[in-house]
Amino acid sequence: MNYRQQLLKASDVQRFLSAKGAVANCAVCGSSQLSALDEELIGARAALPVLKRDGDQVSSDGLFEVVLVACSNCGSVRVHERRLIEAWLAANPSMLG
Ligand SMILES: [Zn+2]
Repeated sequence: MNYRQQLLKASDVQRFLSAKGAVANCAVCGSSQLSALDEELIGARAALPVLKRDGDQVSSDGLFEVVLVACSNCGSVRVHERRLIEAWLAANPSMLG
């Protein structure tokens, strides 16, 4: 299985964040109503554009893949590096399948 091609479920992201002891409340308003963007649900991944200038060594498409976690109360959006989450999930697959 090539995990890199998989779209992440919100539950996978939540498992990662809780295993890492990440703060479970919104940094802006303190709400505990945070939800990860469910890539399986929307069928897409999030990425930030990366500036590419002559001589820069960036990935071929100039994108930095991320996972977004949004607050349902104030709308603040948190960004996590997708590669770390993918690596952790590959080493810690869900028992639920
Ligand atoms: Zn908030």
